[in-house]
Amino acid sequence: RQELYQALRDKPARTRDGIDVRLMMNAGLVVDMSQMEASGADGIGLFRTELQFMVASTFPRADRQEELYREVIEKADGKPILFRTLDIGGDKVLPYFRNAPHEENPAMGWRAIRLTLDRQGLFRTQIRALLRAARGQKLSIMLPMVTEITEIEQARDLIEREESYLKRHGYDLPSEIRIGVMLEVPSLIWQMDRLSGLVDFISVGSNDLFQFIMATDRGNPMVGNRFDSLSCTFLRALRHIVRDCERLSIPLSLCGEMASRPIMALALAGIGFRTLSMSAASIGPVKAAFRDVELNDLSDKLNAAIDHSDKQDIRAFLADYAETNG
Ligand code: PEP
Ligand code: MG
Repeated sequence: RQELYQALRDKPARTRDGIDVRLMMNAGLVVDMSQMEASGADGIGLFRTELQFMVASTFPRADRQEELYREVIEKADGKPILFRTLDIGGDKVLPYFRNAPHEENPAMGWRAIRLTLDRQGLFRTQIRALLRAARGQKLSIMLPMVTEITEIEQARDLIEREESYLKRHGYDLPSEIRIGVMLEVPSLIWQMDRLSGLVDFISVGSNDLFQFIMATDRGNPMVGNRFDSLSCTFLRALRHIVRDCERLSIPLSLCGEMASRPIMALALAGIGFRTLSMSAASIGPVKAAFRDVELNDLSDKLNAAIDHSDKQDIRAFLADYAETNG
């Protein structure tokens, strides 16, 4: 199997009926970058910047942040990287973050963009580090846990302030700055029309989105058997997002764990996703699955199944489909 995946490294994830799916990888540290070449990933669909903060014993200084981002950009060698701004809080605690409040419900509490908009120094330092690291190159910044449009407006405003600060001080800026959001809070699904003028891309964070749509704690083993991303209800919600993004011409990807499982990746492409980001180790198996499928055929049948069946049937349907179609 490993040899098969190795042999596929430089081949596209092209289905039998000629549809290309972009396979990106999730990363968070410099060490992950060595897997970029080895896996044949088309880029980094999610760079979790909080990892540098989680492995440190104090807040990483601005220069250390910049150094990390520069190294990652160099190693990506022109392939796109979506840098997600700090997603701390919730299950990602920093022991050295004093005055962090005790929260009954941290997943729905003071985390990610909420925290960084309240602690603007943290956000602005990170943005400045990103802008400096990406000078002369394309930079994509992705905002986590966005719930309301105003959060994007505030974040954009802070990013623009950092841009003008750097310009005023004679620094070169990135050649292009794209700003996108993670869609992981369901409220955004009903704000898509307003999103379209404000963001350059959307990436679905299916781990959190599932947790919030299904009210099922992603980290609680007592409900682990309910955390099934192939739930018909959830696939319908995802398909709704795909259709809205097509209608509004917003570039869309998905970067939750479900993209790492070949059967789920097939389902995601079946409902219309064309860019998926996953763990590097999954790129080979997922690519192999795509190269073996007639996507239009799968898509027709899957969409019919989603319209007419319940949760169990989708998994059975996909397993059955994979079986009968090799
Ligand atoms: C997600 O929520 O799906 C996601 C990719 O972000 P994280 O797992 O880091 O919360
Ligand atoms: Mg998330």
